[in-house]
Parts: sequence; C-alpha cells; structure tokens
Amino acid sequence: MNGELYCPICFYTAIPVPEPLRCPRCGVPLEYRKGLPPVAPEDLRGQGVWRYSPFLPPAEPVSLGEGDTPLVPSVRIGPELEIDLLLKLEGANPTGSFKDRGASVLVSVLRGFGVEKVADDSSGNAAAALAAYAARAGLVATLYVPTYASPKKLAQIETYGAALVRVPGPRSAAEAAVVEATGKGEHVYASHNESPYFVQGLKTLAYELYEGMGYEAPDHVVVPLGGGGLYLGLYLGFRELVELGWIERMPRISAIQAEACAPIVRAWELGEEVPVPIEPVPTVAEGVSIAAPARGREILAALRECGGGAAAVAEEEILGAQRELAAEEGVYVEPTSAVVLPGLRKLLKQGLFAPSETVVLVLTGSGLKGEPRTRRG
Ligand SMILES: [Zn+2]
Repeated sequence: MNGELYCPICFYTAIPVPEPLRCPRCGVPLEYRKGLPPVAPEDLRGQGVWRYSPFLPPAEPVSLGEGDTPLVPSVRIGPELEIDLLLKLEGANPTGSFKDRGASVLVSVLRGFGVEKVADDSSGNAAAALAAYAARAGLVATLYVPTYASPKKLAQIETYGAALVRVPGPRSAAEAAVVEATGKGEHVYASHNESPYFVQGLKTLAYELYEGMGYEAPDHVVVPLGGGGLYLGLYLGFRELVELGWIERMPRISAIQAEACAPIVRAWELGEEVPVPIEPVPTVAEGVSIAAPARGREILAALRECGGGAAAVAEEEILGAQRELAAEEGVYVEPTSAVVLPGLRKLLKQGLFAPSETVVLVLTGSGLKGEPRTRRG
C-alpha cells in the first residue's frame, strides 16, 4: 500500500502494516498519511465517506452508504444563545453512530491486506460498526467485551455474526485480553482507538462539513471526546483542507468530556502535555469514558494548535441536554453525544465564541442505541 505511517510527535516513520503500531521513541500510536493529490472540490464524485477516496488509504470500499449525514440549523438553542449553530446528525449512519466512517475505511484497508479475522475491545458503537462492516466484507469479527456490558448492545453485535469474548473486570481487562490474543496471531487487532486507518475514515467528517457549509469551514466544531479518534479525524481533515488551499485557516475544534472521566480536560486546564491520571467513576456518557486515551498527547497538541477549548460536564447536565435536544430540536441522541450542549454553554461563558461565528455540534450517535443510565468502567 502506498503512503506511510508516521509519529505525530517526532519524525519516526514506518511502512503501512495491518495492525496499529506505536512510535518506539514516543510510545504514541502512529498515524497514516499519503501525499495529497491535485484534486479540486468539483472533482469529487459519489456520496458519503468514499466521495473523499482521493484522500483516503487506497482500498476497495466495503460500504453501507456511511457518511453524508444531515447538517441542520438549530431552530431554538442557537437563537437563544445568539450564535449561528448547526447540528451534524451522525446518528443517521448505518449502525447509528459516526464510528461507521472509521469502520468502513478500516475494514476496507484490512481486507486489502488479505486479513480474514479481526478483533477489537468494545461493547459500544465501535463494536457494532466493526461487526457490521466485517459481516459486509465477509471477515470474521471477535469482540472482547466486559462482562457487565449491556445485553441490548451485545445483541446487536451478535446478530451481525460477531463472536463475543466476555472478560471479567474493568474495561482495561478487555483491552489486555485482545492485545494478548492478537499477539498470538489469533486475529488482527482492528482497534478503533489505535488504528491509523480508522481515523482516516473519521477524517471525512471535515471534508463533509466543508462541502455542507458551502465550501467553507465553520469557525468552531464541538465534539465529545473519549479516545479522541473523532477529534483527531477532524483535525487531520481540516489540516488537509488548509494544505490543499481549499480553506484559509483551521476551525477551532473543542473537546467535551464527562466530569466523571475527564483526563484531557484536566490536563488542558493544568497546561499539561499528557493526559492527567484519573480514577474514573460511572457516567451515562459511556462512549467517552476512556481513562487513559492512547492518543492523549497528540490530542492536547492539536487542541493547542487549533485554538480550541475544552470543558467537562456533569451527569445531570448531560441528561438534561439529551432531553433538551430532543424536545427543542427534534433530535434524539445518546447521552454520550449530549455532552456537547452543556459543553458549548461552558465555552460560551469562557468567551470562546465571537458573535456571528458559526458553530457545529457533532451529535455522534442515535438515542435509539438505548445506552443504559448507569455503567461501570
Ligand atoms: Zn515519536
């Protein structure tokens, strides 16, 4: 495959391989890049994620029509806050979350490498997405899940034909188990948190926002942050748009976490370059409950570079925002997605937004996912 893997912190590079690699010097997951082709916006063809294939790793697409999700103006919350607010409805993706963008590209690339068996540690949206695209591609998927994972979510994963390995203990135990199994060559680690190809799929959200806003970037994008794939996908995508000369400057991308698990926000507030060690407590925003994000250092560097903000929000604020988005805007999201609304209000108070600036809230997953209200891990 053309392109290369590179360390986002130092100058280390490696040839592309199926499994995620870490920089031997910095210990951070390597990212993928290839030269930007001389393509103009009017040259793009097709719809959704693969419309941006000139900028993606070369692969025969495994697709369910992911991407091309609605971008709608806020009808009540934006006017009340006196900002130009837009909502990006990622719950409209085939399995109900933005993870489909990453899973489509990751599974396509892995199939291109000749991989037949894939595994990941997730019991949430990433697992559902990987299971769906693996089924589509004819690959065998195995998901390592904590024993406490919600039966409803596990039912979706199993219905796609994926095998489940239930691992006792905290979420980190499931991660250790999948790393051990992939180390023995049982399957390829298709990690949604560490694979460079997953982020490449998430990158398409930046291109899509650019086109959806009439060939310009918004001034601000606000996203929930757990592992940070979405944050970095947007960052990489908009940085490419600057390099292509399609936009003049990066939008400011802000990250919102639950107070229950906010290693990046705490590091940001303290001016640290790496995530602050925290002891996570249960949160309704299970999808962003990542205590030690592997890409934390890269995320904090990106936050500084694009001039974004960071905020942590409380449990009752998250549930209130879930109701508010549904009742005021007609948009039913899962609690993990709802963190962006109270986060937006905090950033407003911090003075991050100037009047007349455009702000996009990325609403990452559908409320139909039925995320339970209390979780451990
Ligand atoms: Zn490095």
